[in-house]
Formats: sequence, C-alpha cells, structure tokens
Amino acid sequence: MATSVESVRDAVRRHSTRFEAAIPLIASENLLSPYAKELLISDFHSRYAEGAIGDRYYEGNEQVDEVETICVDLARRLFGCSFADVRPISGTVANLAVLKALAKPGEKVGTARLSDGAHISSAPFGAFGLRGVQPVTYPWDEERMTLDVPGTRALLLQERPKLCLFGLSLFLFPLPIEELRPTLEEIGAIGWYDAAHVLGLIAGGTFQDPLREGCQVLSASTHKTLPGPQHGLLLGEGADPDVTKRLASAAFPGVTSNHHLHAMAALAVSFAESLAFGQEYARQVIANARALAQALHERGFDVLGEQLGFTESHTIAVRVTKEGGGAEVSRRLAAAGIITNKNLIPGDTSSKHPGGIRLGSPEVTRVGMKEREMVQIAELFDSLLHQGRSEAEVAAAAAALKRPFTTVQYCFGRGEAAYRYYDLVGRPPSG
Ligand SMILES: *Cc1c(COP(=O)(O)O)cnc(C)c1O
Repeated sequence: MATSVESVRDAVRRHSTRFEAAIPLIASENLLSPYAKELLISDFHSRYAEGAIGDRYYEGNEQVDEVETICVDLARRLFGCSFADVRPISGTVANLAVLKALAKPGEKVGTARLSDGAHISSAPFGAFGLRGVQPVTYPWDEERMTLDVPGTRALLLQERPKLCLFGLSLFLFPLPIEELRPTLEEIGAIGWYDAAHVLGLIAGGTFQDPLREGCQVLSASTHKTLPGPQHGLLLGEGADPDVTKRLASAAFPGVTSNHHLHAMAALAVSFAESLAFGQEYARQVIANARALAQALHERGFDVLGEQLGFTESHTIAVRVTKEGGGAEVSRRLAAAGIITNKNLIPGDTSSKHPGGIRLGSPEVTRVGMKEREMVQIAELFDSLLHQGRSEAEVAAAAAALKRPFTTVQYCFGRGEAAYRYYDLVGRPPSG
C-alpha cells in the first residue's frame, strides 16, 4: 500500500515539474497564491458547516463563520453587489443552484449554442438537462463572435423565456447585455450572467459589468481568470429579495451539504488579493491575449475575430483546419510542452473533430510574462506547426522560455514557487 501512496505522490510531483517547464495556455486554468494555497491543507478541510453564517447545524463553527463573513464581504466589495453566496463548490454547482432557484422543469431558458462557445451546463446532457429546462438558443454573429442582437431580440419576444443566461466558455468579447436589457424588461425575464471564465476580468474592471448592465444574478467559478481556489460563487444585485432568498436556499441545502470550507477560506484570500492587485493583473491578461493573437496572426495563423482585434478578454480562438484540426494540433503542441485544448468553433458540426484550439493568457500572465514573451510563444507555434521543427526541439525551447517565469505574481507573498509540491511527511516506509 505504501508503494501505491508513493506512486500517487510521484505522479503528482512529475505533473508539477512538467507544468513548471511547460507553457500552459488553458483559458480556464490559473495558479493559486501561496497564502490561498496554504489554507487548502488547513483544518478547515476536515470540517462541516452546514447552514448559514451564525445558523449552523453543528458546533465548532465560530471561526468558519468569521471567515465566511469576511469572504462574503470581500465578494460584495469586489463586485459592488448586495448579495453574495460563497457556498457553491464549483461553477457548475452554482449554475445548478440558479436553475433550481429560478426555473422549473419544462420551462424555457435562453442561452448560446455549444458550438458558439456556451458551456456544457447549457446542454441537454448537462445542468439544463438535469433540471429539465428547454434551451432557447440565441442566434450568433460569427463575424463579430458575439450574439446577433436583432435576432436575439426577435427570438426573446417570440419565445419569452423567464430566465436568460449570458455566458460562454469561448468568451472573446463582452456580451451585449445593455442592448438587450429593454427586451429582457419587456418580457419580464431575469438576466443571468455566467462569469466562470471572466470573473477575474470583471473584478479588475477591464471587461464588462454585467450586474449594472442588465443582469440581476451572476454565477461563476473562482479559479479561471480569477486566480482563486477551485470553487463557485453566486452574486446578486437589484434582484427581488425573493430571488436572492431562493438562490441562498438553492446553494444550501439545494446543491451542497459541505461547502468545502478550506476552499472558501482560500477564496477569501484570493478576493483580498484581487482587490489589491486585480486591476493590474487583468489589464496584463488582456494585453497578453491580444499580443499573442496578433503575433500568431502575423505568422499565418487563422485567429478568429480579426475585424474586432481578435479578443477583449483572456481568450483567443484559432481555426487550425489547415494545420491538421483541433485534436491533432493540440496533441502535437502538448508533446512540445505547450498545453492547449481543442475547441469547437462557429460552424463546427462534430464535437469529435473540432476545427479550433482555444488559448488563454491567465496562467502565463500570473507567472509574470508580458507581451514580449507572447511573441516568443507565437514563434514556438510557428516553428512546430509551420516550419517543421520537431516536438522535442520545441519542448526544449518552451522550457527555456519558461525558466525565468515560475513564481506567482499579483498576490501577497509574490515570488513563491508557483508549481511547488508541498512534501509534508517525507517518504512512507516501504511495505
Ligand atoms: C468552466 C465553466 C463552468 C463550470 O465551472 P466548474 O467550476 O468547472 O464547474 C460554468 N460555466 C462556464 C461558462 C464555464 O466556462
């Protein structure tokens, strides 16, 4: 058994070393600050705190109450809203809470299509299906990589969904919520923003401000552009008190029992760090994404959204059909130390053969890379996919590029090793 323990630890250590030497460009991933990371292995991990602050089912929750109060207050300050619930344990769980609170089985809910960038939460085989709601899908403007506003207006007036979701996993440009607000009001729909991908950009004030543009409810993951622990979040502003009451009871007992107290404590730290460093970080995340897009475009890659400057977020999408398709290209890049994902892009019909790859700048920004390094990353893409250099050669160049960028920035305790493995107990005795 001790060998199995050591095998698991060894695999995780090798994983950490591998990522330390890699260029991780997954748009939904990020690195935790040292102060946040420390709380993940605190005693909070061992506890339950069912219920709400000051009204728990178990004894011993006083310090949990203190921390959750701080966490909720920081969330309200960071996002300028009156309601925050930090109990959902992931973005998907937060979405389930919204669906449970604000939609009934059989009802229609507005959303984007998966091939236009929506998350699997919106799919019949995801959270929408679990709640039994009917997706009403918005028409898409492929040129501008965003909703087709006149088409969406017409659709909403015809279908009249009572809940309208705005949010994407391929999130290049702010969504036109302000433009749709009068229509949402006319049909009496609640605007729901899924900020899983762009929460850190909203916190930094560099993307859009959905709670002031026409959405009353926001759900999110807390570990994508917001560089926090893997967790979820619900926010509300300007909503009926009955709506926030329903959201809170959907969070608990609806979709959680334990709300992962260690992650909640880490989240409080990440919110505090976002208040201190979030603007500078978010500005650099976007500047890096734009620089990477431009540099790839200049090297002959088909980066989507060219007319609009490729992106206003942390994400870019590249059509790689001429380089071999999304599956093949992302596999070759990974073998060369560049971690990306294959992604559906508008016009794709098969989820098995996506025509694109998705790239994100959050993690490389978090370790201190700037525009100059984005150009060097684009050169690595070019040498592997256009110039015929081998995977091994490019992997060595990627590791060399990464070597000075392995500490966490934009946080308290900056400069800590970003990919450090915390060896608390040493080797287990053999046997
Ligand atoms: C990632 C994502 C989620 C799900 O978040 P998890 O924390 O992974 O459960 C929900 N919605 C969107 C738009 C996402 O991109």
